[in-house]
Amino acid sequence: MAFLDVQDLKLHYGTRDGAVRAVDGVSFTLGEKGEAVGIVGESGSGKSSLAISLMRLLPSNVVLAEGKAYLGGRDILSLPSEQFRKEIRWQVMAMVVQGSMNSLNPVLRVGGQITERLLLDGGVSKKEANARAEELLELVGLPKEILQRYPHELSGGMKQRVAIAMALVMSPQMLILDEPTSALDVSVQAQVMNLLKRLKRDRGLSMLFITHDIALASDICDRILVSYAGEHVEAGSIEQVLTEPKHPYTQKLISSIPRLHDQTKPDFLSGQPPNMAEPPSGCRFHPRCPRAFEPCSEKPPPEFVVAEGHTVRCWLYAEETQSQA
Ligand code: SF4
Repeated sequence: MAFLDVQDLKLHYGTRDGAVRAVDGVSFTLGEKGEAVGIVGESGSGKSSLAISLMRLLPSNVVLAEGKAYLGGRDILSLPSEQFRKEIRWQVMAMVVQGSMNSLNPVLRVGGQITERLLLDGGVSKKEANARAEELLELVGLPKEILQRYPHELSGGMKQRVAIAMALVMSPQMLILDEPTSALDVSVQAQVMNLLKRLKRDRGLSMLFITHDIALASDICDRILVSYAGEHVEAGSIEQVLTEPKHPYTQKLISSIPRLHDQTKPDFLSGQPPNMAEPPSGCRFHPRCPRAFEPCSEKPPPEFVVAEGHTVRCWLYAEETQSQA
């Protein structure tokens, strides 16, 4: 049984222009303990909305939230909210939110921020909470003196490590990481990625790694889901998606990566992501797709299986594949 099994998840926001379909029928699994799945796509493709759906941290303008998500076999989206808060959120599944290093409270010392959740929900004494905070700082590669400091006394990389320590405080089995390195410079980004790889390897943490950077995802993920306009348009192992990308959008994402060792120039994707209050008919990528043909603007493509574990939502594969996912 998959550790996380998400089925037909939808999240729509109400706006003056109508319902924005941020997540529009997404299904996937996170299999083994210690597996990392990357969700990759441009801003506005619904990646962060997927994360807050799973964490049940929905804003007030949500007009539709439906679908199933089974975590360790439990239907977490149907649990009463208090039970979800006490038994799932932070306890089993924790999240490092986008820009989390800027979400630390500027007037509280780091130690108080790390221990807060433990003291509220962990049933431990202040002394035990402080010992746990020291242990977590050591785990993320920071000295325990940091506990006495305020966030403004830390560098960006240190603050991001503190945010990761805070997510780990209740010893969750799974982390959702939303653009965990996007605000960091390249050398600090590498340090944080090494920390995450160590947590995955040594602690068997399962991860949902959300990023716009497919090259970064390839550094840590076992599988990749490519997200476009609220849907997953391609899914496969890291090798399948990187070496044999099938969807024209994935191909464009990969060809936009600068190369060090050959003369190929990066090729950029033109146009803008669609307005999700009025998504394009048929294949949502068709207005930007260099390979669009006759059925694309009319009929939404289903998922075609192009190899074991490799699926793509594109009419180009309708004839060469025998079965649909
Ligand atoms: Fe392009 Fe058509 Fe495939 Fe969509 S279905 S990605 S428009 S070729």
